[in-house]
Amino acid sequence: MSCIGRFAPSPTGPLHSGSLLAALASFLDIRAQQGQWLLRIEDLDPPREVAGARDQILFALERFRLHWDGPVTYQSQRLELYRAVLDQLQRKGRAYPCQCSRKQLNERNALVHYDGHCRRHPPPPSALCAIRAVVSDAELQFDDRIQGSRRYTGEEAPGDFVIFRRDGLFAYQLAVVVDDAEQGITQVTRGADLIDETPRQLVLQQHLGYRRPLYAHIPVLTNAQGQKLSKQTFAQPLDLSEQMIAGQLVGALQLLGQQPPAELNDGLAEEILGWAIAHWQIERIPRQLSLPPPTGTEHV
Ligand code: GLU
Ligand code: ZN
Repeated sequence: MSCIGRFAPSPTGPLHSGSLLAALASFLDIRAQQGQWLLRIEDLDPPREVAGARDQILFALERFRLHWDGPVTYQSQRLELYRAVLDQLQRKGRAYPCQCSRKQLNERNALVHYDGHCRRHPPPPSALCAIRAVVSDAELQFDDRIQGSRRYTGEEAPGDFVIFRRDGLFAYQLAVVVDDAEQGITQVTRGADLIDETPRQLVLQQHLGYRRPLYAHIPVLTNAQGQKLSKQTFAQPLDLSEQMIAGQLVGALQLLGQQPPAELNDGLAEEILGWAIAHWQIERIPRQLSLPPPTGTEHV
């Protein structure tokens, strides 16, 4: 059976070195198995979108020769599908309306771990509500191909979580699970910043009777101080000029533990990817990843 993977960026900014790592790892893992690699733009949250980011991402992937299969999918064009699944979950009693405000949740200390208030006290039909999915499992577990076995029990298990927001937007959790299932995704390879979202996605897969994909969470790049690279701490934006592509691909492969031979430094992007597909070993990806301090700033 052939495998299907995907890269699913949100158009909230250009591709950065962390997202290149996730895209590259996902691409190589699928190409090494002769599978299909899909591109899905997760544009569900217009207020967070940055004008032009979508085109920048597509352009950057093409520059790095990370060619995807088939047409690009846009979540903004799939709202009817999410609506149908949301209704189905409510009909099955696996989701319910919640009218708690942020302030109320905060006062009840239920912001992070929802206390089930609206499940016990259904709000009136006219109330402006979010929809939450029911979490009934006390124990959620999966085996990550990079991070190993992950268990979420007791306090670490998620509370009932939002799948449709009070402001009328579908939540990431719902859309990602529906799309992964509907597109037949067998391998989810993405940044480890999302690893703790995975148990919520397992809950929805169970409610909906979907197959569980294999998960691999790529370590998030941190700087030498252990801080996640963000727009503020960001040392190196990607350089999309043609003469810089090969070097950045080789650098990304090294970070992924793949040991490309030195000759490849002068290779073409296509040759580098060809080598990487032929020699891909996901077991070599480290669990954690920090960049060395930038040179030139050390004091002797
Ligand atoms: N759209 C999400 C992000 O850019 C990634 C979703 C996923 O890979 O599951 O953070
Ligand atoms: Zn509530």
